[in-house]
Amino acid sequence: MSDCLFCRIVAGEIPADVVHETDRTLAFRDVNPQAPTHVLVIPKDHHATAGLLVGADPQLLAEVVAAAHAVAVQEGLATEDGPEPGYRLVANTGPAAGQTVHHLHLHVLGGRSLGWPPG
Ligand code: 5GP
Ligand code: ZN
Repeated sequence: MSDCLFCRIVAGEIPADVVHETDRTLAFRDVNPQAPTHVLVIPKDHHATAGLLVGADPQLLAEVVAAAHAVAVQEGLATEDGPEPGYRLVANTGPAAGQTVHHLHLHVLGGRSLGWPPG
């Protein structure tokens, strides 16, 4: 989709600070970080939301979650077998949640204490 920002990042048309990549996923730092670690993990194929992706290609959703875990470990937010010190995965979905880019992305947030409930 040529009008999708994240598809354009996948295509290399817009630069990104890539921290992790597999054949079907890409992870890059958010341009407006909300925590010391703020990485976006996306499927390279265009799917608007997690709900649509799980219907179309559940294996790919699993690969996105696995990539997010790998990023968290790489960033020192977790270990292979444990959740310390911890991090948050966020998938803003739809207008009420403030989704601004309509290409599924998991936010990986960490490196500080994260309040709950979110805003
Ligand atoms: P959403 O609000 O849809 O959950 O998240 C979209 C995220 O994309 C925001 O956190 C925003 O800062 C980030 N973002 C928007 N444009 C760009 C860009 O051009 N490059 C990168 N790396 N992040 C972007
Ligand atoms: Zn897209």
